[in-house]
Amino acid sequence: MFFIILNCMRGEYVELPCPFCDKGKIQCWHIPSLSVIRRRPTATFGNTKKRVTSPDIWLIKSGCNVCNKSREEVEKELKRKGII
Ligand SMILES: [Zn+2]
Repeated sequence: MFFIILNCMRGEYVELPCPFCDKGKIQCWHIPSLSVIRRRPTATFGNTKKRVTSPDIWLIKSGCNVCNKSREEVEKELKRKGII
């Protein structure tokens, strides 16, 4: 059971600069995308390969302690800027 939980906790801890004031540090958990090739045998074309990619996942853990923006505001701004 513990092993399964650890396996799902794939990812890395990242600190991003605050998108509002650039001084604060935003604690995030980044789970990189995973691409898997799936093979599906078909009668007419032999094997078809399909690449399935899961999206990058960013979990924002904190707001900014310098300009006091909330976690939600920081997340919204990071997405708007295309950082996450
Ligand atoms: Zn800030």
